[in-house]
Amino acid sequence: MISLKQTAGNILEGVNHLLWPAVCRLCGGLSAEQSGGLCNNCWQELMFDSSGDYCPRCGRDASKYGLMEGQCAACQDETIEYDLIARAGHYSGVLRDIILAYKFNDRTDLAEYLTMIGASVCAGCPFRDDIDYIVPVPLHWIRRLHRGYNQSLVIAKAFDRSSATINTDLVRVRYTKRQWNLSPNKRKSNVKGAFAVRRGHDFSSRKICLVDDITTSGATLNECARTLKDAGAEKVFAIVIAVAAQAKDDHKTK
Ligand SMILES: [Zn+2]
Ligand SMILES: [Zn+2]
Repeated sequence: MISLKQTAGNILEGVNHLLWPAVCRLCGGLSAEQSGGLCNNCWQELMFDSSGDYCPRCGRDASKYGLMEGQCAACQDETIEYDLIARAGHYSGVLRDIILAYKFNDRTDLAEYLTMIGASVCAGCPFRDDIDYIVPVPLHWIRRLHRGYNQSLVIAKAFDRSSATINTDLVRVRYTKRQWNLSPNKRKSNVKGAFAVRRGHDFSSRKICLVDDITTSGATLNECARTLKDAGAEKVFAIVIAVAAQAKDDHKTK
């Protein structure tokens, strides 16, 4: 039962918001009503950007009625090394703004939105109960040192892991150029041989779920999956926050 004290508190809070509207953590706009620290516009856009039907093989936007044998028209001729992918949304709008601000503008306080979204993708994905290890896509140590954290590990830690454990024995052994301004073919060659499994670690017969914030051509996830399967993994799934549209040439995607 709501007490008189709580009711008075709610009224005071409402009056307070009218007199002192809160600042949206993303756009900086003032608003009397907020959800999760964002103004209603940003929040609703984030919810929209973080949803939608997609192809479970490549992660691109696709209606479930447009799939043929579990794949969309766009990926039927592609070689994809991971077994299934689960994602939140596409890399655009507020979701893109949050990822960019978090990774490149020191807005580490925005991590909570990405972890919330990642945890909800994990909770709803079809392979949730079929994972032994959750493996964040590794950064090269120089990039991790520069950024101070690996965003994929931050996202992975928020998953409700039940029986799965986080494993960081997949490492990036070669420093690679950023992928975003490379064509699909160059992305593939850029990451070829960039990953390895730590010596002495055995992934034999394990079911693994890779975690990353964004995927575009899938080149990084493919190379990680290939490396893990070479190390004996039985299945490799992937969870990402956003899938970016794949450029056919060298145009930038962000
Ligand atoms: Zn806003
Ligand atoms: Zn597809």
